[in-house]
Amino acid sequence: MSATGIFFHYQDGERLRDFPQALEGILSRDNVFFYDAFYPLKPPCSFDLDPIPIDVIGEVHTPEMIERVKRSAAFQGALFSASGTVAAALRIWKGEIDSAFVFTGYGDHHAGSNSFGGGCYFNGAAIAIRELRKRFKAQRFAIIDTDAHHGDGTWEIFSNDPDVLYFCLCSGSYQEKNNKVNVQVPWRVSDEQYLRLISRSFYPRAEAFQPEAIFWNWGYDGTQGEYGDIGLTPDSHGLFAREIKRAADQLCHGRLIVVLCGGSRRDLARRLIPEVIRVLAE
Ligand SMILES: [Zn+2]
Ligand SMILES: [Zn+2]
Repeated sequence: MSATGIFFHYQDGERLRDFPQALEGILSRDNVFFYDAFYPLKPPCSFDLDPIPIDVIGEVHTPEMIERVKRSAAFQGALFSASGTVAAALRIWKGEIDSAFVFTGYGDHHAGSNSFGGGCYFNGAAIAIRELRKRFKAQRFAIIDTDAHHGDGTWEIFSNDPDVLYFCLCSGSYQEKNNKVNVQVPWRVSDEQYLRLISRSFYPRAEAFQPEAIFWNWGYDGTQGEYGDIGLTPDSHGLFAREIKRAADQLCHGRLIVVLCGGSRRDLARRLIPEVIRVLAE
């Protein structure tokens, strides 16, 4: 059984309105730990989630960009979203948990070193990787991105860093460089086809790369009826979660951090997020 941390953050908007109530039945499990910043009615297994200092964000983003985000209405949400990813990574390295699910209001694959957009403000995975390298001398990380869109920010931040395998599945076509790999997904795809891209393309690549942890930029915006619809059914995400968890179990002691990315529908969030967390906590 994997000890799983849930790093929770919700301020406003439709999609996460049913949380954390929709985690009922999960939060009571002995191997699940809940970290949050605001939720007033804390379940017994909960801990505080503290915001990361601004200079930690400055390890990845320029001072000018941080100033621009600070002046936006999204700042607090962006700060706690990135803080959740960093806290998840540090607690995994301290041995407190094996895997994590990070709720984000804003985050994170469109955020580059000096740019943001598309609902992404700070690149939580990139900040977490810098922190792990600084504090624990960890070096090699894999990021798999199954959001429907290209993770241009993550691609840019790690473009000259061969110790980060960034594996992006999207409709675009990008030349492979320094372990930045883009797999072009057809505009309509079945669950099975997509799953094969994970098991036959990502897995061998990650196996050869030998990451110390896997980050999963998980968006559900490619699901039927979503704004990035590529034909995936709601059932696909549980299959992907199993496959990626298997990779983490086999390649890096189960160290897997799932970062919530795109997707807007509240009904899908209510169904899919608990499903993915249940797979992590198996
Ligand atoms: Zn997206
Ligand atoms: Zn891509």
